[in-house]
Amino acid sequence: MQGLMMDVPLTIPLIARHAEALHGAKIVASRLPDRSVRRLTYSEVLGRARRLASALKQLGVRRGDRVATFCWNHHQHVETYFAVPCIVDPFEEEIDEREAAAMCYTSGTTGRPKGVVYSHRSQLLHTLVVLQPSCLGVSESGCVMPVVPMFHANAWGAPYAATLAGANQVHAGPFLDARSLLELMTTERVTHAMGVPTIWMGILQELDRHAELYDLSSLQHMLIGGAAVPESLIRAFAERHGISITQGWGMTETSPVASVSYLTSELAASDVDTQYAYRARAGRPLPLVDVRVHDESGIRPWDDSGMAELEVRGPWVAGAYYDSPESADRFTEDGWFKTGDVASIDARGYITIRDRAKDVVKSGGEWISSVALENAIMGMPGVAEAAVVGIAHPRWDERPLALVVLREGCTSTADAVRAHLAPFFPKWWLPDGVEFVPAIPKTSVGKFQKREIRERYRDYYAQAAVSSVAALSPQRT
Ligand code: ADP
Repeated sequence: MQGLMMDVPLTIPLIARHAEALHGAKIVASRLPDRSVRRLTYSEVLGRARRLASALKQLGVRRGDRVATFCWNHHQHVETYFAVPCIVDPFEEEIDEREAAAMCYTSGTTGRPKGVVYSHRSQLLHTLVVLQPSCLGVSESGCVMPVVPMFHANAWGAPYAATLAGANQVHAGPFLDARSLLELMTTERVTHAMGVPTIWMGILQELDRHAELYDLSSLQHMLIGGAAVPESLIRAFAERHGISITQGWGMTETSPVASVSYLTSELAASDVDTQYAYRARAGRPLPLVDVRVHDESGIRPWDDSGMAELEVRGPWVAGAYYDSPESADRFTEDGWFKTGDVASIDARGYITIRDRAKDVVKSGGEWISSVALENAIMGMPGVAEAAVVGIAHPRWDERPLALVVLREGCTSTADAVRAHLAPFFPKWWLPDGVEFVPAIPKTSVGKFQKREIRERYRDYYAQAAVSSVAALSPQRT
């Protein structure tokens, strides 16, 4: 027997219709290239989206065609999020919820970018779950500033989530420096902000220097992810500026949000150190997302041990890549997506991302987590940013190399970095090489560009200095 409920397709026009009917007066604010802020209402933005869809149709764009955007975050980009997926002929039936709505490419941090094709249904379900209090949790009274680019990973679903909730939206345009973002957060009374850790590292430095210039009293929630969030960053924002951070984990392939490090009621009642440690994890899977960790011995128990590949499945997880038959091995026969991330899951269901499989330092047959080392280095006073990569080594296959950026006016030494790490890691994990650099190369979306670092320092341990460096490599017991 079939259920007898209405079969309403889950499509993006539902979001637009809801916002137009109920939230038409709410605001989408965009920073323009001349630094002024343009404020349009949802009625105006969604009206413009309809006109854009009709203009694109007049230009000959048809259902199934692809329209590329290459824009900063601003109202025009929001308009394309609604216009492009909804181009149908007025003689055609409604959009099928399984139809393609949008495509995003992975940023290519570790390899060739691959295309992911979202459906209307996957976008709508993702939007509903992102709006949960344990995730973005924004409501009609809120104001969201996604500092995640709309050209990447679906801007974490923020444009759709904010529109459906009727929250105001704030878009920073081309000005992504800490000062400009903080000004915008102050003037627009932002309540919810999202972005990758490197953005917030810059914001922390600016707040530490000039907190008196900004008023962040409206800010309720920061969702940070896309790369591991160091515990020291979470602590610094909470203890020095009273701002709490929740970490999210996800990928272009997971629409992208798949897990969030909200605290369960049990953990919220625990001591602060435990709470920080849990906020620094990748979090618990969102509703409807299944996770497991898998290594050569099979599916691992949720006991927080080991380093195994994280696999996910769910209604907003990719089932295949676009036009990439060579990537079919990323999908298991029993219907899971292999993330390429090395992780463990604890008994409470909290995921810890140990590393990307391609970034783990393979030293003498053992694995060293580059993420754990760099997060610990970023906890050192005076350190602004740090990245750790594995560099080929004549004796140990690979050894870790740390690149460290110091805060203005601070000094340090390689020995001081190793001494800072020594209490937390086995001796053989400590980076032999520590280089102090003015900046760490980043991808277009602000992640550490480890491929480029590896390439740049390819011969680091192979050069003449290798004998002295090798002498530093502690022998394992
Ligand atoms: P790319 O692989 O090109 O960077 P994405 O931008 O989709 O593609 O990034 C997804 C990857 O980002 C994940 O596989 C993971 O390695 C990393 N990532 C995302 N969120 C986190 C997080 N909270 N902690 C650690 N790594 C994260």
